[in-house]
Amino acid sequence: MKVLKFGGSSVATPESIGKVRSIVKSQEEAIVVVVSALGGVTDELVRIAALAENADASYLEKLQALRKRHIDTCEALVADNKGGKLLRLAVDALLNELDSICRGVFLLKVLPGKTRDQILSYGERLSSLIVTAAVGDAELYDSLDFIRMDGGLVDFEATDSLVAEKFVGYGKGSPVAIVPGFIARDRAGDIVTLGRGGSDYTASILASALDATVLEIWTDVDGFMSADPRIIQNSYVIDELSYEEATELCNFGAKVVYPPTLYPVCLKKIPIRVKNTFNPSAPGTLIRDAGPDRQDQRVIKGISSIDNISLITLSATSMVGIIGVDRRIFTALANDHISVFLVTQSASETGISIGVSASDAEKACQVLSKTFAAEIASGAVYPVKREDELAAIAIVGENMKHHCGIAGKLFSILGRNGISIIACAQGASESNISFVVERKYLRKSLNVIHEGFFLSEYQELNLFICGVGTVGSQLIGQIAQQQDKLKRRRNLKINVVGIARSTKGVFDRDGIDLGKWKELLAGGQPITPAKLRDEVIGMNIFNAVFVDCTASAEVAALYEDFFNHGISVVAANKIAASSDYQNYRTLKKTARRQGLKFLFETNVGAGLPIINTINSLRNSGDHVQKIEAVLSGTLNFIFNTISADIPFSETVRMAKEQGYSEPDPRIDLSGTDVVRKLVILSREAGYEVNQEDVVAEPFIPKEFFDCSLEEFWQKLPSLDAAFEQQRLELEKEHKHWRFVARMDNGHYTVSLQAFGERHSFYSLDGSNNIVLLTTERYHNHPMLIQGYGAGASVTAAGVFADIISIANVTN
Ligand code: ADP
Ligand code: ASP
Ligand code: MG
Repeated sequence: MKVLKFGGSSVATPESIGKVRSIVKSQEEAIVVVVSALGGVTDELVRIAALAENADASYLEKLQALRKRHIDTCEALVADNKGGKLLRLAVDALLNELDSICRGVFLLKVLPGKTRDQILSYGERLSSLIVTAAVGDAELYDSLDFIRMDGGLVDFEATDSLVAEKFVGYGKGSPVAIVPGFIARDRAGDIVTLGRGGSDYTASILASALDATVLEIWTDVDGFMSADPRIIQNSYVIDELSYEEATELCNFGAKVVYPPTLYPVCLKKIPIRVKNTFNPSAPGTLIRDAGPDRQDQRVIKGISSIDNISLITLSATSMVGIIGVDRRIFTALANDHISVFLVTQSASETGISIGVSASDAEKACQVLSKTFAAEIASGAVYPVKREDELAAIAIVGENMKHHCGIAGKLFSILGRNGISIIACAQGASESNISFVVERKYLRKSLNVIHEGFFLSEYQELNLFICGVGTVGSQLIGQIAQQQDKLKRRRNLKINVVGIARSTKGVFDRDGIDLGKWKELLAGGQPITPAKLRDEVIGMNIFNAVFVDCTASAEVAALYEDFFNHGISVVAANKIAASSDYQNYRTLKKTARRQGLKFLFETNVGAGLPIINTINSLRNSGDHVQKIEAVLSGTLNFIFNTISADIPFSETVRMAKEQGYSEPDPRIDLSGTDVVRKLVILSREAGYEVNQEDVVAEPFIPKEFFDCSLEEFWQKLPSLDAAFEQQRLELEKEHKHWRFVARMDNGHYTVSLQAFGERHSFYSLDGSNNIVLLTTERYHNHPMLIQGYGAGASVTAAGVFADIISIANVTN
C-alpha cells in the first residue's frame, strides 16, 4: 500500500485537481490519499481569524470570497447531478459552520488557540470533500476520527490502533480513501492542527500506521532541490537523500517537507518520494535509509536557510564558576516554548549565543534576563545582548564527515565575496555546518555557496554595464550574440543585471533582456553617480562585475567602493588607472585584498594583450627595462593617411568621422591620451610614475589647444602647408612619421618621430598599434606586440575578454 499526499498547490484549482485525479487513477496498487487545503486557503483562514478577533468587519468579505472559491471549484469539477448536489450541501454546511464560528470570534473579540485551530481545520475539511467527489469511486476517511494528539504531540499508540480499526479490510478494489491532512483531535475531543505544513505529517503518520511501502509527497516542484528554487535559479533536483540529510535540510527551512514528517516513516524505514503533480513523469527525489551501498558521493547535498532570525548572547568574563548555565538557559527557553535552532559556545566558556526566530527574540531576552537576574545584577554576567536582522544558513551532507576542508572552503567562499560570518556551529554528526550572516547577505550567500559547492550546470557572472556609447553598445551587442554559446559551450551564464548611461539606468537581478535594452534603458530610472553606486551595491548580487565603458571621472571614483562591496571592475575608462599613483595603488591593493579583479586591458591598444603580457612577464620574474610604442590609433591613422591629396586637416576630420579619435580630437593631438597610456603601461611594468613625469613634445602650436573646439576646426587647415612640406621631405628620405611613447628605465617621453624602412615602426598600417618591450630576458630582440589598436568593436571585444577572464579566475 502507498500513501500519496497532495499539497495545497496540487489542489489549488479545478485543473490541478484534475491532475490529482489522473495520478490517483493511474496507480496500480492500493493507495491512501491525503490532501491539503486548496492552495492559499489556510493563510486566508489565518487572516480571517485575525480580522474577526480585531472586530474588523472586513473579515466577512474574505469569508465570502472563500465561499465562492470553494463553490466555483465544486461546480467546475462535479456535474450537477445527485452527487453534485450532495457535495454542495456538505460544502455549504461546513462553510455555514465556519461563518458562525467567525461571527462568534468577531462578537467576542477573542480567539482562543482551540478556536483558531478549529477555524483552520475547515481548509482541509472542505478540500477533502471536494477531492473525494472529484476523484470518483472514493470515500472520505475523516482524520478527526483517527489521528490523536496529546499535549501537543501525536499519540502514536492511540492513533495506530484507531487507524488499524478504521482501515481494516482496506485494499486494492476498495474505493480510494481520501483523508484531510493537518487536522486531529486531542484527548478532550477538540479539533487541533499539526502545525503549518502539517498535511505531510498526517500522511507520514498514516504511512507508518499502515506499514505503507512508500510515502509520496506530491507538490509543485520536481523534487527536493539542492537549494530553495525561489532563490537559486540553478538549483537542481537531488536524486536521493538520507533521512538524516532530509531532516537537517527541512529543519533549516527547506519548506518542501514539513520536518516532523520524517520521523514516523524513518522509524519504519519507509521511503519517501517527493514528486511533481504537474510533471508526474519526473523521477523526483527518494529519501531513504542511507545504506552502505549509497551511490551518491557528493559531499554537500543541499543548502537551506532561515530568514529573519535573532541571535541572543549571554556572556561573562568567565562562566566557568557559574553552575548549570546551559541547563538554566534551555530550561527557561523551553518553558516558554521558544525554539532554538542554533547554539554556539566558545570553549573558554565565556559566552553562549542562541539563534531564535525574530518573533521569539523579545521574549527570549526577557526570559534569560529574568533567569540570570541575580548574576547580571552582581556583574558576574553581562546584560543579555540581542542582534537582529540576521539569517541562518546550513549546508548539509552525510559525506562531509569523510572529507576535510569543507568548513575552510565554505568560509573562504564567503570571505571572498565580502560576507562575514557572525556565528557558526557544526554538529557532532558532521553532516551539517550552520552559520549566521546579516540578513541582507542571505541571497548572495546562498548563491555563492551553491555555485562554489555544487558543480552547477554553469557558472554565472552578473554584469553592470555603465556607458552605452560606441564601446558600451557594441559590448552589449557582443554579449547578446554570445550569451547562448557561452552557456552551452563554456557553461558560463552571463547576466547583464544593470545598464546605465549618464542620466538613466535600468536594473534587473534576473537579467535584462538584451533584445530590447535600448527601450528598457529609455524607460529606466533617473540616475546620478551616487545613485548608480547605491543601486549597484544595493543589489548585493554575487559574482558581480562593474564594467565601465564611460570616460567619466565620477564613475571611476566609484571603483573603490565597489571593491569594498565584493564587486570586480573591468574598465575601458582610462581615468582610474592613469590617475594619481597613490589612487591607482590603493585600487589595485583593495581589489587584491578582496580577492577581486581590477582589469583594464583595453586602456592601451584596445583588445591587444599588452597589459596581460607585461603582467605575465613580471609574474614570471622578468623585469621590463624599456617600452617603446605607437599607441595612438588616431595619430597613426592620421600620419598613415596624410598624402599629397589628403591634407593634414582632412585626416583629422576623417579620424573623427570614422570613430577613431576622441570627440575632441585635441586629446589625441596633444598626446594626452598617449601620456596616459604610457603611464598605465609603465605602472603595470612596476614603475611609480605620474602623468606629470612624462615629457610631451607637442607637434601642433599651443594656441590650437587654448581655443574653442569650433575655432580649432576653423583654424586647422592653416597647418596643412607646413605639414605637406615636411611630408615631402620625409617621402624623399623614405621615412614615416610615428607618434612614439617611450619609457627607458624611468625616463618618459612622447613625441613625433620619423622612422626609416628598417625600423619595425616603419610599416604600421591604418590605426594599428605596436609595442616593443625590452626586458631582462627579451634584451637583444625585444618582444613585439602589434595589431589593430583602436575602434569600438575591438575595444568592446577586449572588454569582453577581460570579463570572461574573471569567470576563469573564479572557477
Ligand atoms: P505544498 O503546497 O505541496 O505542500 P509547499 O509550498 O509546502 O508545497 O512546498 C513546496 C515549495 O517549497 C516549492 O514550491 C519551493 O518553492 C519550496 N522549497 C523551498 N526549499 C526547497 C527545496 N530545497 N526543494 C524544493 N522546494 C523547496
Ligand atoms: N494547509 C496547511 C497549511 O497550509 C497544511 C498543509 O498544507 O500542509 O499549513
Ligand atoms: Mg507543504
